[in-house]
Amino acid sequence: MALKSGNPGDDPERSFCAPYAEFSSSTRGRFHPESLSNSQPEFQRDRERIIHSSAFQALEHKSQIILNRSGDEYRTRLSHTLEVAVLGRSIARSLRLNDDLVDAIALAHDLGFPPFGQPGEHTLNQLMNDHGGFHHSRQSLRVVDELEMIYPEFNGLNLTYEVRAGLCRNFVSRDEADSQPSLEAQLVDASDELVSARLDLGDALEHGFIEEEALADVALWTEIKAEVAKHYSRMDKSRRRLYILDRIQEALIADLCRQSHENLESADPAHAAEARSLNRRLVGFSIEVRSKLQNLRDFLAQHFHHHSTISRVNQRACMVLQALFTFYHKHPNLIGDKAALKIKKEGLPRAVCDYLSGMTDTMAYRAYAKHLGTDSLLAELTPRKKI
Ligand code: MG
Repeated sequence: MALKSGNPGDDPERSFCAPYAEFSSSTRGRFHPESLSNSQPEFQRDRERIIHSSAFQALEHKSQIILNRSGDEYRTRLSHTLEVAVLGRSIARSLRLNDDLVDAIALAHDLGFPPFGQPGEHTLNQLMNDHGGFHHSRQSLRVVDELEMIYPEFNGLNLTYEVRAGLCRNFVSRDEADSQPSLEAQLVDASDELVSARLDLGDALEHGFIEEEALADVALWTEIKAEVAKHYSRMDKSRRRLYILDRIQEALIADLCRQSHENLESADPAHAAEARSLNRRLVGFSIEVRSKLQNLRDFLAQHFHHHSTISRVNQRACMVLQALFTFYHKHPNLIGDKAALKIKKEGLPRAVCDYLSGMTDTMAYRAYAKHLGTDSLLAELTPRKKI
């Protein structure tokens, strides 16, 4: 299928992207007005602000699923983020969406994750129950709007509306006229889902948390495994497993591209605002693959994310976070130079929550060891790989 071309001209975005893409030149702007860049589109400018931020640098030392205290053995929040961005960018080109916007949203989408991954997020949400709660997507927006301190005239990164709106995944903070996120934000959601499922499955198998035999009812695995066995019956087990994972990713990408192309062709939105006003998303998987993906996600939740070894370690990590939350309430002078102003403006619980959520796993371990415990407790926080 041939997707529509934009209007060729001096604007490289308009000459490549389809009319339903978002364009830097039509941005709904920045909260603090700034003059437009002569040298690069505004979404590229945002991408650079994001990767130069402290929160982005910290992703390297934040856990994805398995708490990482031992170097590069386990996937981190940074490697996950980069995979989402790379995948999103290539599919954006296939759909003729704005790949710079996809890149910027993907690179920022997990900036608000606290240390210790989802268990850390749940812990902070419980601790903040009476003070507005905590969710990583809201915190990602807070990081780019408030918490980064780089520019002299404003707090935050002062990103464009389109990148900020793309971070509002589980809460409404977009323009009320928009029923849907932008097509670029929809693509980041789908890429995030694809990358998470594929890499979690790889980690679970690679590190011995599940055996291949346990996947007998997971259609995505069994169907591709059977296909691979037909052509490569004598491949060694480890290589075959990696190849099956690779083929699963390819199949998911192919479905996402095919279905999204079909949706875009039939809905035929004339511009980005029309795509946002529809009553359904246009970028996503087919019903059949969505169901298989959900089946895999349910399996991973039960057998990997809630695996007894991981749960035990996560409980310990959450105890560290709870203890630090209480400790810093008693010692607010230790939460940084800017804390006094923030405490006055937003209260002590939010100031402590921001401070803790900005920590890497390692910083949280060190703070705990320094203020509250010894490293003997922390030694229990790394699951041992089955050999
Ligand atoms: Mg993510």
